Amino acid sequence: MIHAADGLQLPARMSADLCVVGAGPGGMAAATVAAEAGLRVVLLEAGDLVTPATSTQREEDMLPRLLWHAGARTTEDRRVRVVQGHGVGGSSLHNINLCKRVPSPILQRWRRDRGLEQLPPPAWDALYDETEQLLGVQTIPAERQNPLNQLLRAGTQALGWRGGPLRHNRAGCIGSGFCALGCAYDAKNNALKVFARRLVEAGGQVVTRCQAVRLRTEAGRVRAVSAVALDPTTRRPRGRLEVSAPIVCLAASATGTAALLQRSGVPDPGGETGQRLHLHPGAVVVGDFEQPVRAWEGIPQSYECTEWLDFERPDRRAWIATAFAHPASAAAMVPGHGEMHREWMTRYAHLAGFSVMLHDETRGVVEPDGELDLKITYRPNRDDREQLARGLRAATRLLFAAGARRVLIPSRPPRVVHRATEVGEVEAAALEDGRLELTAVHPMGSVPMGDDPQRAAVDSAGRHHHMDGLWVSDASLFPGSIGVPPQLSVYALGLHVGRSLVAREGGTGS
Ligand SMILES: Cc1cc2nc3c(=O)[nH]c(=O)nc-3n(C[C@H](O)[C@H](O)[C@H](O)COP(=O)(O)OP(=O)(O)OC[C@H]3O[C@@H](n4cnc5c(N)ncnc54)[C@H](O)[C@@H]3O)c2cc1C
Ligand code: SF4
Repeated sequence: MIHAADGLQLPARMSADLCVVGAGPGGMAAATVAAEAGLRVVLLEAGDLVTPATSTQREEDMLPRLLWHAGARTTEDRRVRVVQGHGVGGSSLHNINLCKRVPSPILQRWRRDRGLEQLPPPAWDALYDETEQLLGVQTIPAERQNPLNQLLRAGTQALGWRGGPLRHNRAGCIGSGFCALGCAYDAKNNALKVFARRLVEAGGQVVTRCQAVRLRTEAGRVRAVSAVALDPTTRRPRGRLEVSAPIVCLAASATGTAALLQRSGVPDPGGETGQRLHLHPGAVVVGDFEQPVRAWEGIPQSYECTEWLDFERPDRRAWIATAFAHPASAAAMVPGHGEMHREWMTRYAHLAGFSVMLHDETRGVVEPDGELDLKITYRPNRDDREQLARGLRAATRLLFAAGARRVLIPSRPPRVVHRATEVGEVEAAALEDGRLELTAVHPMGSVPMGDDPQRAAVDSAGRHHHMDGLWVSDASLFPGSIGVPPQLSVYALGLHVGRSLVAREGGTGS
């Protein structure tokens, strides 16, 4: 059953064998595995049930329904916009469907540095095979690349750089281009489509518009989750709800999980919780082309340039893909304001954005902010700013190689360059602290798993080292930045944590 918390008689009490917090890929996978193994599962989700039938393709309607703070969450100094989704499916509802495995050099490093006895590289390989099958992951063929992605391909090939097509989890996609607003055609093999029916058929309950506030613990064991029911319009608390459960699995994302653990005072002798947040921050350079690009049409993000990303080299940490947006989001993506911004927006149909995403070394901090919110502190260090500068320079060269007439650099204030030889300008802007418009869509690593309980809070099965019955199953678990889109690995972790939880605690419930 899937129902909304504000429809319950409040205050309300529920009980379960397992309470999962958060219905993103990590939470839905773990909850489904546990329910199918016979545990009574209650899953609490702060967002709504957003189905294909209710997806309207309107930004003003869908962005508030799909995103925390309607997409306007930022770091405390407003330097980085941190976009995260909510709803049954979490960010998989509105993400772009790219699927990539964590590269082998990173898995080997994690094994060396963090132990990960229960998740060595061969176990990842098996989980990836299974997850790719489950999500129907396939390469987007060249004939389905839209004009925007064809420009990135053309630029990459013209410069003789490394690049290639991307793999996505789609089935029956008609190329409407609305992925970022949720799919009205049910063509995304996301966490809602892949798991919700299975979870419900196994007896699992999903309670939407229900935000967990803190864990109730006693004598070193988790006992319950305290939550609030949210009003559907204002998203303010309407009343309280408590779920008693001997097992709790946190999957509230790399920001939400770390905030909940800290707000609940869960012990962490190593002090890592919330202190090692990676964001993969990125910036977009925008090219103006003679011919129309109509970037909003067709399958988004089907090609990548990997010339400046090398997992064996710390001096190559920039991944380049395409960036597209519908009008309101494009207006936010195109930097600047006033007459200059208006003039660029009149060229909307001719604009092509190339995004540079940083495989970041900077460690940010996430902590609770009152009962319901959280605070993110993140300032890219000098090395990371240098990498971003290189990436932006490369993306600018790619745009010119693909035929752009002029390129807009997202510095504060924005700069316009007219030829590839002016790219030194880009570097100067990027290197100064706080001078770039940054956006991040991949928070991770805030509760990094590790087998040493003096250092890590959670082990490589997802089990908390210092609180019995407590588990974590989301992007928090990565021991560092992964440098590739994370969803495939989060689904894989969800399956792994769900199975580990059942194996260890299966007999704890009723
Ligand atoms: C715009 C955008 C595009 C992206 N594109 C891609 C892509 O193409 N490929 C890719 O691999 N990755 C992509 N990602 C990232 C990917 O979607 C995430 O890494 C992935 O969804 C993380 O899964 P998760 O389970 O850790 O968290 P989430 O998906 O964030 O799910 C966490 C859930 O927990 C809920 N929650 C949080 N706090 C609470 C609380 N206190 N109580 C109850 N519920 C709570 C949230 O509402 C949310 O539904 C994209 C992300 C964004 C924002
Ligand atoms: S492009 Fe495909 S997956 Fe994206 S919204 Fe359209 S039909 Fe759905």
